[in-house]
Amino acid sequence: MNEIPHYRMYINGQWRDSDAFMEVSSPATGATIATVAHGDLHTTDEAIAAAKSAHDAGVWRNLPAHQRANYLEAIADQLGARAHELAALQVGENGATIRGAGAFLIGYAVDHLKYFAGLARTYPFQCSGPLAEGPTLATGLIVKEPVGVCAGIVPWNFPLLLAVWKLGPALAAGNTVVLKPDDQTPLTLLELARAAHEVGVPAGVLNVVTGEGPVVGARLAEHPDVGKVAFTGSSEVGKGVMRAAANTVKKLTLELGGKGANIVLDDAELDLAVDGSLFAFLLMSGQACESGTRLLVHKSIHDEFVRQLVARAASLTVGDPMDPATDLGPLISARQKSRVEKYITLGQEEGCKLAFQGAVPSDPALAQGHWVAPTILTGATNDMRIAREEIFGPVLVVLTYSDDDEAVAIANDSDYGLSAGVWSTNPARALGIARRLESGTVWINDWHMINARYPFGGVKQSGLGRELGPDALDEYTEPKFIHMDLTNDSRKRIYGVVVSANAQPA
Ligand code: NAD
Repeated sequence: MNEIPHYRMYINGQWRDSDAFMEVSSPATGATIATVAHGDLHTTDEAIAAAKSAHDAGVWRNLPAHQRANYLEAIADQLGARAHELAALQVGENGATIRGAGAFLIGYAVDHLKYFAGLARTYPFQCSGPLAEGPTLATGLIVKEPVGVCAGIVPWNFPLLLAVWKLGPALAAGNTVVLKPDDQTPLTLLELARAAHEVGVPAGVLNVVTGEGPVVGARLAEHPDVGKVAFTGSSEVGKGVMRAAANTVKKLTLELGGKGANIVLDDAELDLAVDGSLFAFLLMSGQACESGTRLLVHKSIHDEFVRQLVARAASLTVGDPMDPATDLGPLISARQKSRVEKYITLGQEEGCKLAFQGAVPSDPALAQGHWVAPTILTGATNDMRIAREEIFGPVLVVLTYSDDDEAVAIANDSDYGLSAGVWSTNPARALGIARRLESGTVWINDWHMINARYPFGGVKQSGLGRELGPDALDEYTEPKFIHMDLTNDSRKRIYGVVVSANAQPA
């Protein structure tokens, strides 16, 4: 029998164990796949102290930006070289399909880290200009300085990728970092720390504390030595993080929930829109915050669209996520499965029709897994809870509309504003609608295409700030304005405004 691997935390350049440990189990089989050190308040404080002394000592922020970029590239290369192994580890800890993890998640993590390395080389960390019009020796200097210790609180759905979205810009900008993975999915994130360790990132610059959210995460959010918190997760916990961070007025990035409106216009290319709509709500078995979970179909094509959608959904395979033929894996936990099942029941109680529900795997080896098959509920209206609340599972809610104005009104009638999409063969019409949608991202004839070069984040209760794109580095820097008056003009002002001219030194 294979021995279950044990993972330790990473604090101040050392692998650290604890007396207690947590078990990580496969969402597909329920089997324990690893044990992990159980961090607590004490280890969180130690990690913050290590990050603070590394920052104060200048071992990272004083490196030229291109050297920080070299480190980031080296970490990305390490991850890339181990892509197959990391993809399997991701499948093991959170049930992502090997096709998704291999082709998508690990590759994105590597690419995005490289993007941040490139950004470190080109970002305007310093710029200057005249303080007044015309030739002058009075100069204004803007220096974009690192914030200090940055905390990243990472969820379980895309642990490595979402850690990279926090670590990449933080390190590129010269900060030190404490990362906290979700206690269900610490493994790939600890491999990220291993890669940083192996390429020689100085001690204290990156720390990873494994433990429970209300303990480790809450401590990071409130600690006075943490200057910035980047959080991805539920809106409810995110609001708590915001409240905790307010006590010391920290910088904050929040990536919270979504209820993406996916609008199919009556001129859409039907095949593409049908398959695109499945892709939009089923990636990671629907456990992606930017999924298209509210399908708005023009009433003239609704019946045919749903017929094709159901036929295509019936062809999908739910099963062992390590099998390349599998389209959908399990949900993360028994708790998440029960939550999603309650929403499916609620939708029918609210008056929706269960238009489709697929089959869960019958393989006895998967009997302890957390399975919910793809589910399509039609006849929804936007006032139903099923259309307003984030379900986070493979559940699609279908609504109809009569014209573009109504589609936009329904789409925008939501507490969330993370993602939206439009399917149409008329680019001008689709773009016109995209401009009217209250959403951080809008895809036209596509979904899930997050691009490292462009900002990602939400409006309304979907979040605050942006990850990715050049905006990401702004979130991890503080612009300092330095006024340098090399003329004699300051004398005139000083002695003219407050200090009396008579008080001038002889
Ligand atoms: P969560 O918000 O509880 O967890 C996200 C992260 O926050 C984890 O690392 C967790 O340990 C940490 N955390 C938990 N309590 C904390 C606290 N008090 N202070 C600081 N950090 C804390 O999310 P969840 O329970 O894993 O999932 C619940 C719901 O959240 C899902 O059903 C879904 O709606 C949403 N969710 C959204 C995303 C996203 O990408 N936006 C990701 C995961 C979950």
